[in-house]
Amino acid sequence: MKFLSSNFFQNLDPDLIVLQQVPSRHYSSFHCLSTIEAVVRPQTSSSLQLLLQELTRQELMWKIDWVPLGKGSNVLISDRGFGLVVDLSLMNQISIVCEDENELILDVGAGCGNGKLLQFLRKKRCKGFGFSFGIPGTLGGGVRMNAGTPLGSFSQCTIGVSALDMGGQSMFDRELSSKDFSYRDFPAGRDWVVFRLRMRFAKASEREVEREIEDAKVKRANQPLHLPNFGSAFKNPPGDFAARLIEAAGLKERRIGDAQISSMHANFIVNLNAAKTEDALQLIELAKTTVRKKFGVQLHREVHVIGDSEYDS
Ligand SMILES: Cc1cc2nc3c(=O)[nH]c(=O)nc-3n(C[C@H](O)[C@H](O)[C@H](O)COP(=O)(O)OP(=O)(O)OC[C@H]3O[C@@H](n4cnc5c(N)ncnc54)[C@H](O)[C@@H]3O)c2cc1C
Repeated sequence: MKFLSSNFFQNLDPDLIVLQQVPSRHYSSFHCLSTIEAVVRPQTSSSLQLLLQELTRQELMWKIDWVPLGKGSNVLISDRGFGLVVDLSLMNQISIVCEDENELILDVGAGCGNGKLLQFLRKKRCKGFGFSFGIPGTLGGGVRMNAGTPLGSFSQCTIGVSALDMGGQSMFDRELSSKDFSYRDFPAGRDWVVFRLRMRFAKASEREVEREIEDAKVKRANQPLHLPNFGSAFKNPPGDFAARLIEAAGLKERRIGDAQISSMHANFIVNLNAAKTEDALQLIELAKTTVRKKFGVQLHREVHVIGDSEYDS
């Protein structure tokens, strides 16, 4: 990526926060080893729009040179490093659009963490987001991935988004229904930068709200949360589980470099110390090939790879 100095961004908008030479581990829950050249944090949608327009003018391309990231809990960043991350963590406000005894409608900044919203909803006695307990991301990443578990997903509570196209040319609001989402994907939003979500939750008793969260906690018990990882490596194939297939293929605990298929959960790849992204990607390829050969099932990667077009999702 061509070098863009801090001054370049400050001249564009003095309120843009710019960090340079940022370790990739700050934007990857797997603790990737490389370096991100620049991280830019806009504080408003108009500042975000200016930024995207300028990146386009500088002929910097989405995915090749820059990408929006939340907490990086579903990404691997190339060992060669990456150019520019657009980080919306400062756009994290929660505002009430409408509230009555039955429901609560919110506008929430895409940089808001799932945990912050869940705590807010707990206090408001709302259900419908308990599934997110233990999903360590932001709402922007959550809606892009349609993150969830069998207990629920973003598709059931997101009723709209405010977004920009990747070139920053148009800023728009879209109403959404669950039909706009598919399993771990939000197809229409693949080329958007989402900066705000409109979400709807039902009011419930304290007991119901807490039970939803307790149910979600149980699901985490068999996950290797003591080691850096990026959640599920693969989507579950229809009618089966990626973890079951990988385990049945004899790959549990298989190690390449410092990346290992977890002994606790075969759909998790953990970083034992200083794993390279390439190590994790080789394990992913090994699991794919072995499962296809043994069971005739094609696994599809869930984790997104940043900065390596060879592995582009
Ligand atoms: C321990 C652990 C457990 C997990 N459990 C689950 C689980 O149960 N269910 C599940 O679905 N996932 C799970 N994950 C994966 C991950 O947490 C989710 O996919 C999460 O929603 C990603 O959010 P993020 O903010 O970290 O996104 P990132 O990883 O930062 O980004 C993911 C993708 O979204 C894009 N993106 C991010 N923000 C925006 C935005 N504002 N606009 C447009 N695109 C954007 C990025 O470019 C990238 O392509 C888990 C991960 C870990 C580490």
